[in-house]
Amino acid sequence: MAKLADAQDLKSWDSKESCGFDSHPRHSSVGCDEIAVSLMPILLPKQDFCWFCRYLAGEHPCAFVLRNDQVAAWVNVRQYERGSILIAPTAHLPTVFDLDANTLAAVYTTAARVGKAVVRAFGAAGLNIFQNNGIFAGQSIAHHHVHVVPRYTSSEPRRMFHSDDYEPVSWEEQLAIARDVRMALGDSSSNLST
Ligand SMILES: [Zn+2]
Repeated sequence: MAKLADAQDLKSWDSKESCGFDSHPRHSSVGCDEIAVSLMPILLPKQDFCWFCRYLAGEHPCAFVLRNDQVAAWVNVRQYERGSILIAPTAHLPTVFDLDANTLAAVYTTAARVGKAVVRAFGAAGLNIFQNNGIFAGQSIAHHHVHVVPRYTSSEPRRMFHSDDYEPVSWEEQLAIARDVRMALGDSSSNLST
């Protein structure tokens, strides 16, 4: 399995200019496309292009915390809780039903590893790991992704997160969070490394 990029490899992403998230579209759907790839009759958010594929192709700055051939993790521009991270396969696969077993393992092993780092980095008291499939389940980007959200003693345990309730945080804030998580990953003694 591919070795994770280390902090030095990831450093180049830090040097990119403003991410321009001021122009990042709201993800509320005005329509939907019936899924073309998945075997499941799930309605996906309508999109002319995939933001996540743009991040992964280096066409738009993104505060990555790790990436390899199969999976990547980066700071969610919408910080449901401080330290919220997204995990996604590098391939454009719309829903969980489109991932093969190997990719599923890579994504969720990474989610657990990053979750452990996030808890350590921010002193969280709990952690949510969740994902959505289709617009009726709250999916806003038609590229499978897992939300890793640390929770704190001040958090409301039953709170549900809706992306439109959160404005994107600044690029500087994204980079600061990414650095904290990467440091915790480097210090981690986790046996969940991919
Ligand atoms: Zn994509």
